[in-house]
Amino acid sequence: MNIFPEERIRLLNQAPIHPEGDFVLYWMIAFRRARWNFSLDRAVEWACELRKPVVVLEALSCDYPWASERLHSFILEGMHNNRSEFKDLPVFYFPYVERSKGEGRGLVRELAARSCIVITDDYPCFFLPRMIGAVGNSIPVKMEAIDSNGLLPLVVADKVFLTAFSFRRYIQEMLPRFLEFPKESPLSDVHLPMLHELPVDIANRWPVADTLLDSPRDHVRGLPVDHAVAPVETKGGSSAAEKRLESFLQTGLSRYHLDRNLPADGVTSGLSPYLHFGHLSVHEIFRELSRGERWSPENLSARISGKREGWWGMSSAAEAFLDQLVTWRELGFNLCSRRQDYDLLDSLPDWAIETLTDHENDSRPYLYTRKELEFAKTHDPLWNAAQRQLLLEGRIYGYPRMLWGKKIVEWTASPREALDIMIELNNKYALDGRDPNSYCGIFWVLGRYDRPFGPARPVLGKIRCMSSQRTVKKIGADAYMRRMEAAWTRSGLYQ
Ligand SMILES: Cc1cc2nc3c(=O)[nH]c(=O)nc-3n(C[C@H](O)[C@H](O)[C@H](O)COP(=O)(O)OP(=O)(O)OC[C@H]3O[C@@H](n4cnc5c(N)ncnc54)[C@H](O)[C@@H]3O)c2cc1C
Repeated sequence: MNIFPEERIRLLNQAPIHPEGDFVLYWMIAFRRARWNFSLDRAVEWACELRKPVVVLEALSCDYPWASERLHSFILEGMHNNRSEFKDLPVFYFPYVERSKGEGRGLVRELAARSCIVITDDYPCFFLPRMIGAVGNSIPVKMEAIDSNGLLPLVVADKVFLTAFSFRRYIQEMLPRFLEFPKESPLSDVHLPMLHELPVDIANRWPVADTLLDSPRDHVRGLPVDHAVAPVETKGGSSAAEKRLESFLQTGLSRYHLDRNLPADGVTSGLSPYLHFGHLSVHEIFRELSRGERWSPENLSARISGKREGWWGMSSAAEAFLDQLVTWRELGFNLCSRRQDYDLLDSLPDWAIETLTDHENDSRPYLYTRKELEFAKTHDPLWNAAQRQLLLEGRIYGYPRMLWGKKIVEWTASPREALDIMIELNNKYALDGRDPNSYCGIFWVLGRYDRPFGPARPVLGKIRCMSSQRTVKKIGADAYMRRMEAAWTRSGLYQ
């Protein structure tokens, strides 16, 4: 048991292992995939040591915040995919889908009571840390949470980084020591005893989701989730994620450093929903990218400068992509894993709170209600295009997303209300919402990871501001606005 990276293990209780238990339970809650997954590696490792079967429980409740047809469909498509990936492997895959609120309560504890040890995913955001903490405290067996979030294990950075520059510098210093990979196929070469069916009392009370996974989009209509938030075209699951990755590496990557701000498909990876739901691992992305770049760790520069380019020893395009995928993405994880108040206004730097407070009573050029914003009824065609994209496609391209946030601050009565509306709209409609990067992006709008820009302006004070007119010109947004207008009219939704 000593090859597994210790820094990725967090013990959730002091309970013992039960060697006489029936199986090793992997409760998959965030890294929803069959490969490139440290949690699954860890479960398999324990199972080999204890000579027990592995049970993978992937459960979906229906009363998590913002549960909707959109989010449910995406997760269920991932479960459908996992079912086929696990099919011929030495593991018992148990997909469970709640059909009424509260129906799933007690399932994990029942399974834990029969297991030798419980492994779960250590994800630092949303309701998950509270949920696994509570389960860990209430079960009689050892429970470990495993960190498969990023290239740098979460515990390594033992402070909150306040700028991307300082975090990038830290990554450059530390990553070479921690660049370890989970197994591509953790179950392919192992011989484990198999569990062929669940104990009858469990199977009767919590039946395996079966036909439901065959056509998730039909079945979600009958589940008690928000039906006003419709599924989008983007499909969930590891196979869809890998296809998207392949296509981006082949056709988008080479111009990423030049075109990534353009509001168009293919210029960025579109991988954030898959990363969020764990259908794709950052390690797999890194491995594929570095293969294409013919890269090996010897290419890393010994010079630690904190600069965006030049450290990885890859092409400019790949380095620009890694700066988003590693520096910015893991910066958000760093904050969420170290501060429980990551979603509160008070977590902003002092200068940002001060300037926002100084300008709280400034008159606003426009004041919109939450509903007017939600349904894209503002005077600003670019902003409406961004909000319509969020409603119809469950995403906003990166650059308009920044403008989207800035304008919400300008057009609402207070920074607190703006924050509340940004979190609500982002987390309700974006496939990649409810993620450390949701809070990284939303709080960036309010000054986090940024510096003051003087002289102070109305409403935003010294917080960086953005103009719609300039953005339209800078990113050539006319075609984007026309496309969203046409899609909006065609869909007839949310109007
Ligand atoms: C107001 C606002 C809200 C945001 N909400 C979210 C959110 O809910 N979920 C989310 O994943 N990102 C969020 N972002 C960050 C960013 O917009 C998205 O990560 C990016 O647009 C996703 O598109 P992509 O996968 O094509 O990115 P690519 O450009 O292909 O980048 C690759 C990956 O790097 C990461 N990444 C890229 N840009 C950023 C960034 N600015 N900050 C942190 N990580 C980044 C993402 O994981 C992304 O998938 C938000 C930004 C803003 C300004």
